Amino acid sequence: MMESDKSKRNRRRKAGAARREKGKRQGRGAEVFVPTDPTTVIARLEARAETSLLRRHPWVFRSAIKEIQGHPEQGATIELVGPEGEWLARGAWSAESQIAVRVWTFDSDEVVDREFFRSRLDAAIRVRSAYFDVDLERAGRLVNAESDGLPGVVIDRYADCLVCQFLTAGAEAWRGPIVEELQELLPAISSIYERSDVDVREKEGLPQRTGLLAGSEPPQTIQIVENGYRLQVDVRNGHKTGFYLDQRGNRAAVADLASGRDVLNCFSYTGGFGVAAMRGGAARVINVDASAPALELARQHAQLNELDMERMEFVEADVFKFLRGCRDARREFDLIILDPPKFAANRNQIDQACRGYKDINLLAFKLLRPGGLLVTYSCSGHIGRDLFQKVVADAALDARRNAVILEWLSQADDHSCNLAFPEGFYLKGLVCRVDA
Ligand code: SAH
Repeated sequence: MMESDKSKRNRRRKAGAARREKGKRQGRGAEVFVPTDPTTVIARLEARAETSLLRRHPWVFRSAIKEIQGHPEQGATIELVGPEGEWLARGAWSAESQIAVRVWTFDSDEVVDREFFRSRLDAAIRVRSAYFDVDLERAGRLVNAESDGLPGVVIDRYADCLVCQFLTAGAEAWRGPIVEELQELLPAISSIYERSDVDVREKEGLPQRTGLLAGSEPPQTIQIVENGYRLQVDVRNGHKTGFYLDQRGNRAAVADLASGRDVLNCFSYTGGFGVAAMRGGAARVINVDASAPALELARQHAQLNELDMERMEFVEADVFKFLRGCRDARREFDLIILDPPKFAANRNQIDQACRGYKDINLLAFKLLRPGGLLVTYSCSGHIGRDLFQKVVADAALDARRNAVILEWLSQADDHSCNLAFPEGFYLKGLVCRVDA
């Protein structure tokens, strides 16, 4: 249930009144923030460092902080003020990460308490009905961290199971209340499971953690429906929260392109793109992945969807080697999908990642028959669209293929990216057609 507008107004009025009582001194044009509560922690920013907060970007780097009044605990809510002492935002303190504060609110009247989380969660969940149909598809992203005003909080739904990731100190501090609010907001949910086994937690000084948070243990696999085909998700062991939900729309795009084509699905994982291609009428699909368990699930997905196994292959191999082998054997395909894991985990890895992208794209271009299609992705947030397009262009050049861009693809709608937070946009896909 959403907090009523009236109670929200009252709460805000109270918060506003409390601050007015505090009294405010006038700084040079800006109102200086003076807390009534002496335990309030205030971080004052360096000159000009406030610009990004004024643009509502929710991160404050440690280097942007001039001084801190007080001793914040890991995950505590602190106030951010500008160089003149003017109030800017309220956010969660991370003691270890380079991102020292992540903003919960830019509204000085908004109190960060349990109600705050309830209303943010509720708002995020409500908009999702426009993106996916829980009854029909059963799966989708409910909360997308910063882009939903909840830094560090990711919540995916798989049928009656929610899978949560708490990625930051602030998210960790509110983990209990968030889980309790989820139970109230979504009473039909029977299990809430945690998959905070993500590297970024280490940057926050947090251990990785998985396990049941509420309700009953989720089943071994949960069946979901994507673009009309069925898929099984293992929320305990699957990648991310169990599945790559961010590629839902892009698998539909591949289905539309696949008719009559000989398809090579590289980095297939559990075969989502392969199933989509077969459903779209592909002549053949070869799924290639380095993981045997993922390929076993891909095989099961083919059976579950009653696909013609005679026209499908599942190859356990390193894609780089496999593509070279195909080149040497002069094998050809009409549609090649490249959906590799994140090659650049940080800025320092950008060059190396570009070499990796160029390598596989170059080989793929060489393997395409005249008029063939390349559907190529990068999920590295550090590699922007322009750079990715340049790398793919370089690959085509070196492969001596002329190609046109048919379409740009990106992450599914429920993985929405807030305009103020461009880092939230990470998945880029390019559909190219080589000359006939
Ligand atoms: N396309 C998939 C998601 C791919 S995730 C989907 O739609 O669900 C990346 C996959 O690449 C993982 O399954 C991982 O096992 C595989 N992988 C990573 N490096 C690889 C390599 N060098 N060769 C083959 N597979 C690799």
